[in-house]
Amino acid sequence: MKLDRSSVVSITVCIVGVFMSIVAFTRPTVTDSIYQVSIVFLIVGTTTAGIRGMLNRRLIITLGGVVVSFGASAVAASLGVDRLLVESLDFVGALFLAATMLELVNRNYGSDEGVLGDALVVGFGSWLTSWVLLVEPMLRRLNSTGSSILSGLYLPVGSVILFLVMWALFRNTRRYPSMQLICTALIFNLAGDVSNAMYLAGHIDSVGVRLSNSAYIIGYTFSAAAFLHPSVGNLTSTQRNNDTQTRFVGRLVITAMSLLTPFLLLAIVPPTNRVDKLVRAVSALILGGATALRVVLAVRSNHRTQQILVRNAQTDALTGLPNRTLILDQINDCIQTSWKTHVLPTVYFVDLDRFKNINDSLGHAAGDELLTLVANRLVNAVPGQSTVGRLSGDEYVVIDPAPESPGRAMEMADRLLAVFAEPFGLSHGDVFVSASVGVASCVSGTKTTAEDLLRHADTAMYRAKDAGRNCMAVFDESMHERVAQRLAIETALYRALDRRELRLFHQPILDLESGDVVGFEALMRWQQGDGTIVSPAEFIPIAEDTGTIVPIGAWAVLEALSQLKSWIGDGVCSPTATMSVNVSPRQLADPNFPNVVSEALVRSGVSPHQLWLEVTESMMISEPEIALASLRKLRMLGVRIALDDFGTGFSSLSLIQKFPLQRLKIDRAFVQGVADNSNDRSLVRTIVAMGRSLGLDLVAEGVESIHQLQVLHDLGCTKAQGFLISHPVPGDAMRSTVAALERLGGFPNLRTGNSPINR
Ligand code: C2E
Ligand code: CA
Ligand code: CA
Repeated sequence: MKLDRSSVVSITVCIVGVFMSIVAFTRPTVTDSIYQVSIVFLIVGTTTAGIRGMLNRRLIITLGGVVVSFGASAVAASLGVDRLLVESLDFVGALFLAATMLELVNRNYGSDEGVLGDALVVGFGSWLTSWVLLVEPMLRRLNSTGSSILSGLYLPVGSVILFLVMWALFRNTRRYPSMQLICTALIFNLAGDVSNAMYLAGHIDSVGVRLSNSAYIIGYTFSAAAFLHPSVGNLTSTQRNNDTQTRFVGRLVITAMSLLTPFLLLAIVPPTNRVDKLVRAVSALILGGATALRVVLAVRSNHRTQQILVRNAQTDALTGLPNRTLILDQINDCIQTSWKTHVLPTVYFVDLDRFKNINDSLGHAAGDELLTLVANRLVNAVPGQSTVGRLSGDEYVVIDPAPESPGRAMEMADRLLAVFAEPFGLSHGDVFVSASVGVASCVSGTKTTAEDLLRHADTAMYRAKDAGRNCMAVFDESMHERVAQRLAIETALYRALDRRELRLFHQPILDLESGDVVGFEALMRWQQGDGTIVSPAEFIPIAEDTGTIVPIGAWAVLEALSQLKSWIGDGVCSPTATMSVNVSPRQLADPNFPNVVSEALVRSGVSPHQLWLEVTESMMISEPEIALASLRKLRMLGVRIALDDFGTGFSSLSLIQKFPLQRLKIDRAFVQGVADNSNDRSLVRTIVAMGRSLGLDLVAEGVESIHQLQVLHDLGCTKAQGFLISHPVPGDAMRSTVAALERLGGFPNLRTGNSPINR
């Protein structure tokens, strides 16, 4: 173990102290001088700690009191002044010592009313013991009342100090050398007091005085060593140990002993005179009072603990809002009262949109930060009688016990949505999040349980999500039908592939420079038995949830490539035309997917670089490792990867650099605004510049007007698709579509025209 200089100083001081104490014991002639030297040690030690800034203000005062009182008493003793004055000074020093110890315990272990109560019991208990055993015999023996009482008072003060020392030592928290040294010093100090009092009471001879002086010398020098040790800083820091386990056997034993001993003594040692009787009676009364106080304090502290436990069980640790249990209770209460008052309690289910993205990309700490900010804003947004709770994750619930009218309920839902209008300032920077709100009210005349109401609000919330998020939906019975409907779709989708109900439509991709159709995107359709065509936006998410996307997606790859092969063979398109196929995260996570692609390439006979796989950012953010491994395998086949819907997600530059991408597809949302919205235009300009600098191919999707196409071309985007060029069409309609596009000559006006864009 390596010792630093301060530790060496402390150890040396302790050794010197022990040596001094032995000399003082064996050579009575020098005892007084050595005693004074030890006080000098104490002064130097505390002053050093004070100068180093290791002590707080209260400690400087209490320790100053200790040093000044003991110092003055030593000086007074050497000057031979009245013994009572010397003893009074010593006693004041002891009081300051107790105060110091209280402050240390308080600093290190937190204030605990239980300790204070125990300290009182210990103090008065030892006073009574000390009265019976020491003070009263002393009074009879020496005829000096003041001096005897003072000596007798040492024991209780010392006992309190000892108790606090034990308290500090029994706590199973980290112990610092300084704390241990101080505790040792105080134990010696107390031993000195006891031995002195026993001498005065005539229980031992003059060896008692010598013993007590030696003990004091060790006490002072060890205290000095404690204050010279660097760990004294830990003692006084406000950093507290918040463990709730405050009851220790040790503390209990000391307190119980302090209570039992005096009463045992009262029973065994009969009173000698009236004064003795009176002091005993009053002291016993006070001790009884202290014990009662201690019990009250303990009960109060237990009650508080109980309250904390109940609160913890009913609130959410992160936000402090009521949790599911309490929310259900409260909804229940509202429903109960509503039967009498005929109001219709309303529950709002608030769910953040795409919260997972924030958690995955910015980390859980940022996620927690956001959840707390959302909680605060919701609480501030709702009127007084409403309650906000958090169910789990990013789900919040607002209970309005008595909305005045259905209109008011809508107002409230709007207010909840408005909470998300402003960005949330996280330590990472500002983020925007939206939320979906589901509203459900009790229906008059029908019996609704709290669980029902919450579930209805939840169902409505999902409806809001389906409707495109950042909006609200009110629960009605038809939503149950929707749930049933979804179940029906799920089941039907399982069979769609076998029943050959799936189709691929294709949308041509145009090269803006040459005006040629250079590729196609395959878009799936589900033509159900009755002829209705279901949009992929409706069934792809369900196929993803259920896993059906894996076989369906495999079918799509082969089908799309075979289509391209036959178009090339039939001369519908150029032999170098490409086919883009959408791939969902679930497919990408499937380890077999590269094999599926490779097999489709072999079976269709299409060259790998004619296949583009379109992926979205979500998977790269949620499971970057798996996504990267999978994309690398696909790249090894020679297939190219396009990042779909670019600009809608997090679209970070690092993402684009980390993943093996060859194309960005600028999302329809920006393309729509590119002609009229300057924000969208500068965003597209930035995307184009970034894509170009990284050598990526750029495709604008969702082009609907010639104006948009012109602007895109002028911004440097070289490829486009959209309703303007062609809607997605079935395979057999592609020949005429391509022919029509070629007849147009590929918007030649784009290359020559003067487009009205402000750069
Ligand atoms: P996406 O990959 O972003 O496909 C583009 C969507 O925009 C298509 O919708 C297309 O019909 C539509 N669109 C194209 N041009 C325009 C335009 O000018 N204006 C407007 N308003 N819309 C335009 P669709 O076919 O309904 O597909 C929706 C989404 O479903 C696709 O978005 C894609 O994410 C997914 N999807 C489609 N087919 C498949 C598939 O085979 N596999 C997977 N995993 N997902 C697919
Ligand atoms: Ca796509
Ligand atoms: Ca897209």
